[in-house]
Amino acid sequence: LSSFLHLRPMPLDAIYSLKETFKADSNENKIILGSGVYRDDQSLPWVLPSVEKADEIVAKTQDCGRYEYLPIPGYAPFYTAARDLLFGDLGDNASRIVSLHTVAGTGANRLGAQFLKETTHPSAVWLPDPTWVNHHNIWSQVGVNVKTYPYWNSSTRALDFEKMLRVLSDEATEGDVLILHACAHNPTGVDPTKEQWMTIAAMCETKGLFPFFDCAYLGFASGDLDEDAWAVRHFMSRGTLELAVAQSFSKNMGLYGERVGALHLVTATAEIASNAKGHLSRLQRGYVSQPPTRGARIAATILRTPDLYQEWLFDIQQMSSRIRNMRRALRDRLISLGTPGSWEHIFSQIGMFSYVGLTAEQVAIIEEYSHIYMLKSGRINIAGLTTKNVENVARAIDHAVR
Ligand code: PMP
Repeated sequence: LSSFLHLRPMPLDAIYSLKETFKADSNENKIILGSGVYRDDQSLPWVLPSVEKADEIVAKTQDCGRYEYLPIPGYAPFYTAARDLLFGDLGDNASRIVSLHTVAGTGANRLGAQFLKETTHPSAVWLPDPTWVNHHNIWSQVGVNVKTYPYWNSSTRALDFEKMLRVLSDEATEGDVLILHACAHNPTGVDPTKEQWMTIAAMCETKGLFPFFDCAYLGFASGDLDEDAWAVRHFMSRGTLELAVAQSFSKNMGLYGERVGALHLVTATAEIASNAKGHLSRLQRGYVSQPPTRGARIAATILRTPDLYQEWLFDIQQMSSRIRNMRRALRDRLISLGTPGSWEHIFSQIGMFSYVGLTAEQVAIIEEYSHIYMLKSGRINIAGLTTKNVENVARAIDHAVR
């Protein structure tokens, strides 16, 4: 007999089940706008030219040590360069930051969550509603009480800033963790303005909340890394807050399967940082012993080679401008079709995703009649649009909302 007889079937993650349904559809005009990966105008994965070159350099320069284990905190040339990319010029503050190389952004979120749970015992973690679904998964697996704060206002199709502030000020308690998307919020594509970020930072100070930034799309919001890092740098520059940042290179380097990321913890003093590093290393040891090497070597080569770095900035521009063009194209087609409703938000939202503002019924109609697959929330991956398919997508939305 089995110890597992009590197990019931577990529903597939929404994105994975969408992919399965898409695969099973034999219609040749089918389109998937589900998962968060960049595609070029031919709907193909894109290996960034800067990554291709860095990969060759890594292959050529590696000796017989190439498959050796890394230290537990990972590849230092990578995580220090990742830190500098994110925080910019740190001056004397570098010693207050602990950085570790992690198994991509997910690993950084998980490591940070476990560390905070064990060291600061938060009574709750506050996630935006909606957020990346894995935030719920990670924090509930770690065993912290998960609460949500209002973020998206479906009637204005914008950030519900007042409600967000009200709920956090009334209900969050000192020591609670506040999850913030550093830029290009997934899934809504809506970020706070700089003034709003300042207000959030001030609230973290007065209420004693611990800000934890998830930074998976640096460069995807504006195409400019410094601009996209603004919120994190602002929180850091106030000098009053400790904070954590989970950083991913999956999207901005297109290194998805290589699992390249870092966790940065900004602490009050260098001594605390050094102690925290020991605790984080112990946790990392229990999860993965050491993170994987190849992707981090590629990323470090790009970040530390001036020519390649410039080329990478250009690659990011390519991706972010294609996404902006597709936003414009979809908005323009909907307007020219006279589709009922307002579609300006599709263009003004940023990053890879758009919350189009469709109901679950409309999403189902689009899937059934047009073979276009998106999440039930009406979130679409703009990078799934191409000059060829955007017309069909606009017509399908038009048909469903009429
Ligand atoms: N955070 C957010 C908000 C994301 O959208 C993603 C990727 N979908 C991640 C973290 C993690 O990505 P990865 O583990 O692939 O780096």
